[in-house]
Amino acid sequence: MGLNLIVLVKQVPDTQNITGNAMKEDGTVNRSALPAIFNPEDLHALEAALRIRDSVPESKVHVLTMGPPSAVQVLKDSLYRGADFVALISDRRFAAADTLATSYALKCAIEKIGKYDIVFCGRQAIDGDTAQVGPQTAEKLGIDQISCVSEIVDLDVKKRTLTARRSIEGGFEKVRTTLPVLLTITDEGFHPRPPSAIRMMTYKNAMTEMSNADFDETYLASGSDLKAENTIPLWDINTINADPESCGLPGSPTKVKTIQMVVLKSEDIRMIENTEEAIGDMVHELVADHTLG
Ligand SMILES: Cc1cc2nc3c(=O)[nH]c(=O)nc-3n(C[C@H](O)[C@H](O)[C@H](O)COP(=O)(O)OP(=O)(O)OC[C@H]3O[C@@H](n4cnc5c(N)ncnc54)[C@H](O)[C@@H]3O)c2cc1C
Repeated sequence: MGLNLIVLVKQVPDTQNITGNAMKEDGTVNRSALPAIFNPEDLHALEAALRIRDSVPESKVHVLTMGPPSAVQVLKDSLYRGADFVALISDRRFAAADTLATSYALKCAIEKIGKYDIVFCGRQAIDGDTAQVGPQTAEKLGIDQISCVSEIVDLDVKKRTLTARRSIEGGFEKVRTTLPVLLTITDEGFHPRPPSAIRMMTYKNAMTEMSNADFDETYLASGSDLKAENTIPLWDINTINADPESCGLPGSPTKVKTIQMVVLKSEDIRMIENTEEAIGDMVHELVADHTLG
């Protein structure tokens, strides 16, 4: 029997190509001034899922993203690379979500898909950078999680066990668990495959459309092909049966009080010797002046 694989992907501003007007005066990111890209580690997460789909017959890869309408681009990219099903989770009421509200909405969308065996996330998004969404989603689903995975060492579909290699400070460890499980994937393994030219031709005109319950149910029940419709489902708060009070601003306990620009100047840089003693002294100094801790 095949596995139902779900990949959570995020569209992010390309923070590696910062231009002059990348920050607004209030210190927030000017998203419109930066090119939007597929969060790099999410491409590795997608590749991990595609490899399992390719090796376990009858498996399916479902890709979900929560974001504004423009985030559909990462879904199209996922289709170009081999995803079987994609859906855009979008609603004005998701705006201003912190990680708690984001993981709640993602959990509701995963439950809409129904049966799932492995959920894949990137370890971290390059804009928010918290690395909280994967672990929080696993917690809300009530399933095991293995974070910072660089390799899936073994997957026994019959026994429903998975062994993964995860990176830890100064080394790695192997962890075994039973399905269902959520994995957060690093960029150390699962080198992403390129988009397929044939699939690009197939899906280049795919567009989002408000959720059509009949279409969703037919697809989810039968595993039929998005190609036939060239429609990318758009799931709002009602479609995923989410409580509006737990979404967006009302569902976000994090409040940003101030945003500070930290600009390093040359006089702030001090070179120290690469010895344990020198590094220890520096750490003590940083703790003493409250920079750390
Ligand atoms: C007070 C507050 C207000 C905010 N308001 C806004 C806002 O108005 N608009 C806005 O865009 N952001 C806003 N954010 C940022 C938003 O909370 C984060 O971008 C989001 O919750 C994801 O966190 P992260 O980027 O740290 O992801 P991480 O936890 O670093 O991401 C880890 C992995 O989780 C998955 N993932 C993360 N986000 C998504 C997603 N949206 N869809 C699918 N998979 C995902 C991906 O696999 C990703 O690799 C706000 C944050 C705070 C604290």
